[in-house]
Amino acid sequence: MRSVLVTGGAGFLGSHLCERLLKENKEVLCVDNFFTGSRHNVDQLLDNASFKLLQHDITTPLHVETGEIYNLACPASPKHYQFDPVQTTKTNVLGAINVLDLARRLKIKVLQASTSEVYGDPHTHPQAEDYWGNVNPIGARSCYDEGKRCAETLFFDYVRQYDVPAKVVRIFNTYGPRMQPDDGRVVSNFIVQALSNQDITIYGDGGQTRSFCYVDDLIEALIRMMATSGDIHGPVNIGNPVEMTVRHLAELVIELTGSSSRLRFRPLPADDPRQRQPDIAKARELLDWAPTVGLREGLARTIAYFEDLLRSDEHRVLRSLSPVQ
Ligand code: NAD
Ligand code: UDP
Repeated sequence: MRSVLVTGGAGFLGSHLCERLLKENKEVLCVDNFFTGSRHNVDQLLDNASFKLLQHDITTPLHVETGEIYNLACPASPKHYQFDPVQTTKTNVLGAINVLDLARRLKIKVLQASTSEVYGDPHTHPQAEDYWGNVNPIGARSCYDEGKRCAETLFFDYVRQYDVPAKVVRIFNTYGPRMQPDDGRVVSNFIVQALSNQDITIYGDGGQTRSFCYVDDLIEALIRMMATSGDIHGPVNIGNPVEMTVRHLAELVIELTGSSSRLRFRPLPADDPRQRQPDIAKARELLDWAPTVGLREGLARTIAYFEDLLRSDEHRVLRSLSPVQ
């Protein structure tokens, strides 16, 4: 099982996953259409003979040979997935069908990067895997939420109908180095704003909550989930259960950066979930996994990354690659 396909491998999480798999002596085929990811994220891997990069859109079938598949391709930030919502749904649904057909043909494991967004604006707290969710099917976030829900449906139908060893993890807000500076997600926004002493943009009153997981912890969980036997399908929540308000996060980022930024309140986007906290009992039991990097430590590492980035020209390069400004 040396060769691994990572779709969305040039994105934030994908590039960390590729790096980790190469450290484990795997051969990695990274497939990406570079919508939100970039070659830049995998530059350091290009000289490795075990790494291959293929520009391809997963909405069209993929004819490759591989030993297992991680399906991460899909823009993850609301700004990017709402830029072309029809394409987002296609990526989720057609992309899932294409990776599942490949896994079926090759009789290999395939893991889906699903999301806490399948719970929508939840009525139960914290969210466990048996909660079915509260999702608006026709709103601005639906292309992502419902797209991911449909992908999960497909994964479980391929298990039932074709006996594919398919697996689903539901990822809660994850942050770390290689998030795009203009991605629009809360951690990258706050850090970039704080480092450049701009106002910190809080949507709504900042009382909504999220639970933030550092990228290395998340990648460890993906690897452990893939390593489970073929009859383990999930879904399994992956995230850090330490929950906080968005306003508290802003204050923490200001403290850690020593910034003079002030808080600026802006309208809350439609259908923005009020609270989010993973119940990770299943991940603890099945994967013997729990996060190890605390928020202060993870934010410090992420802040160091953005400090370097903002000092260098790479920042401008990345901005020019981004399809949404
Ligand atoms: P990202 O936007 O940095 O990465 C997504 C990658 O997929 C990018 O490299 C992009 O170019 C690629 N991509 C998009 N559409 C594609 C297509 N049609 N064909 C091929 N490649 C395509 O986002 P991320 O944070 O790295 O997220 C990776 C995965 O994890 C996504 O599926 C996302 O839904 C899921 N996820 C992430 C988080 C998080 O907090 N980061 C939370 C929940 C779920
Ligand atoms: N948010 C904010 N200011 C920003 C970006 C985001 O207050 O500059 C809020 C957003 O409204 C949401 C939370 O932070 O309540 C997390 O947003 P993100 O887009 O990172 O993730 P998601 O909403 O998908 O969980």
